[in-house]
Amino acid sequence: MDLAFSGEYREFQNNVRAFVAANLPQDIREKVTRGLRLARDDHQRWQNILSAKGWIAPGWPTEYGGTGWSAVQRYIFDEECSRAGAPGVIPFGTKFVGPVIYTFGSDAQKSYYLPRILNNDDWWCQGYSEPGAGSDLASLQTWAVRDGDHYIVNGTKTWTTLAQWATKMFCLVRTGTEGKKQEGISFLLIDMAQPGIEIKPIVTFDGGREINMVHLTDVKVPVADRVGDENRGWTYAKFLLQHERTGTAGVGHSKAQIRRLKDIAAREKAGGRLLIDDPDFRARIAEVEIELQALEYTDLRYLMQVAAGNPPGAESSLLKLRGTEIQQRISELLMQAMGYYAQPWLPDALEYGWNEDPVGPADAAPLAAAYFNKRKTTIYGGTNEIQRNIIAKLVLGL
Ligand SMILES: Cc1cc2nc3c(=O)[nH]c(=O)nc-3n(C[C@H](O)[C@H](O)[C@H](O)COP(=O)(O)OP(=O)(O)OC[C@H]3O[C@@H](n4cnc5c(N)ncnc54)[C@H](O)[C@@H]3O)c2cc1C
Repeated sequence: MDLAFSGEYREFQNNVRAFVAANLPQDIREKVTRGLRLARDDHQRWQNILSAKGWIAPGWPTEYGGTGWSAVQRYIFDEECSRAGAPGVIPFGTKFVGPVIYTFGSDAQKSYYLPRILNNDDWWCQGYSEPGAGSDLASLQTWAVRDGDHYIVNGTKTWTTLAQWATKMFCLVRTGTEGKKQEGISFLLIDMAQPGIEIKPIVTFDGGREINMVHLTDVKVPVADRVGDENRGWTYAKFLLQHERTGTAGVGHSKAQIRRLKDIAAREKAGGRLLIDDPDFRARIAEVEIELQALEYTDLRYLMQVAAGNPPGAESSLLKLRGTEIQQRISELLMQAMGYYAQPWLPDALEYGWNEDPVGPADAAPLAAAYFNKRKTTIYGGTNEIQRNIIAKLVLGL
């Protein structure tokens, strides 16, 4: 496959590049490229810029506010944003629940929620996992009991990413026990600003506060905020998960990290010579770069297939699996390239404006945190072991 974009694609690429260069705020770019922490306001500012341009939800059909771009154009857009140091759009609204709402939602849900997602009025979080229901998601025990026009919801969700920023949660709840356990699940849209919702942060190994426990006690949800039919939520949940797994290859982000790795290797010395001149380290960079290129071909082939009307299949598991392994590998190489300087634990160095003397080169300080944070990638969105099971079943027929 020829990956050098030509003709209209090159023109499109130039347009996106020029737009991002002219509109991405410098402080946000700096935070992303240096691996610093982003605040909610940083995401909001960048997402508002994309929203005003009509580029916030490229994958949606045009009738709901999508761009009408081809799969290749969407790919180019993602890559250009990563290249320029733009933060990824937080996916819960645009990539996850949005497609569920326009595919399975009522007209009222479409006309109310979709514009609010496009305008960044609602910030969503994903209430799937529970303390006793992770890989075995259908074991969930958060109950929604019907009471007139409402459900009364009780239970605990866990690992809820960015619940502390969210105004809404899309949530899987148990509404029945008949038949298989998958059959008694419903899909609710829950307002986070109401009595009975308690959010407790789970502090991660890198010192981050991006995930949470969410306790729900007698939370009232209008029946009108149930997506689709009662007890058929598993169908909508699976549809969403397939979409979730397509975004995780992260090729554009990994390419940007490899460029960063090469810059460091061209500057740092080991054994009296530059790392980039060390045959062993060069080989390690080359190996991951080749793997990334193979993933890129697969990703593009897959996008074309989906664009041609074929539903996402085992490929989305494969992309998630390989994409996350590569992301982790690059974060390991970045640590190795920096040697001892990657060791000091400096959580303050992740804050923009921190101006104390770093231990070693300034860009070494966030590397350990990034390395630890990347361990999550093979767990969320369905662990990589589960993706292997899916591939074994769908591709190998085991
Ligand atoms: C950083 C982070 C953010 C997350 N964000 C969200 C979020 O926003 N919303 C949300 O709903 N969830 C979220 N999750 C939850 C995530 O989806 C679950 O952690 C994941 O599905 C695994 O579930 P578990 O943690 O209960 O592990 P378990 O299911 O208990 O698995 C433990 C181990 O056993 C393995 N295992 C389990 N079953 C099998 C099997 N059948 N075959 C082979 N191996 C198996 C697993 O692969 C894993 O290694 C997040 C998780 C993380 C780490």
